[in-house]
Amino acid sequence: EPTLRLRVRAARLGTRFVLLLAEDRTEAHRLDEVRRDFVANISHELKTPIASVSLLAEAIDTAADEPDRVRRFANRLEIESDRLARITNEVIELSRLQAGDALRPDELVDIDEAVRVAVDQSRVVALSREIEVAVRAKTHARVWGDRQLLVVAIHNLVANAIAYSNDGGRVGVGVRVDDGVVSIAVTDQGIGIAEADLDRVFERFYRVDQARSRGTGGSGLGLSIVKHTVQNLGGDVRVWSTPGRGSTFTIRLPLAEEPTTATDASADGE
Ligand code: ADP
Repeated sequence: EPTLRLRVRAARLGTRFVLLLAEDRTEAHRLDEVRRDFVANISHELKTPIASVSLLAEAIDTAADEPDRVRRFANRLEIESDRLARITNEVIELSRLQAGDALRPDELVDIDEAVRVAVDQSRVVALSREIEVAVRAKTHARVWGDRQLLVVAIHNLVANAIAYSNDGGRVGVGVRVDDGVVSIAVTDQGIGIAEADLDRVFERFYRVDQARSRGTGGSGLGLSIVKHTVQNLGGDVRVWSTPGRGSTFTIRLPLAEEPTTATDASADGE
């Protein structure tokens, strides 16, 4: 009987081992798929704005003596090139994050200023859809981080808030400091996110309702960049949402305590 029990145990261990191996293979396979999707998605996302840019340039050329149309086309040209810049930025940022070379938070970043820059990058799109973006950023909060990456992260939240708002909507961006933590909250009154999707929106390439999201020309990368960026800095990002009412995304980051931390950080940095 003891041998039987041993054999059963060995069999169980064997099964578990095989399962582990299988899981490992599945994970490798999944990563492979993610990589393939990545390239396919990026090519797809780049094609549309590139085509638009050349069409619009042509349209401007043929409408040369109609100032109104020229202005309208030029405006759309600006939007499309913003979109191109955004996708390109996202790919660069994501690969930097994955390569791990953006992990050294060696800059003191003024959060109020980063928020203003990030919002300014969205003004053209907001204006074209008559969406008001109200900013409240008067904290003088500073964090250790990579300024460019933080601007991209905040910009991604603001761009989403605008993209998923209705025309004429309102977006609010607020910065506040509590207990050694700075929070950046981006609130919209847009379409909202269903509870089942709330956790998944931070996954790479995840887009709620492909057809609906496609209309916004996003890549599904924005929030995963936000998540990676803030996690690398010891912070987090959270979301609250009610479908049909709107969403709030909040980034929280540990404040840099200066000047003491300045010396601490260089000592820790080795
Ligand atoms: P995308 O480029 O598609 O916007 P993100 O990673 O930034 O990619 O967002 C993932 C998905 O989360 C979006 O496709 C959208 O479905 C949903 N989402 C993000 N922000 C909002 C928001 N403010 N309101 C409603 N849905 C949102």
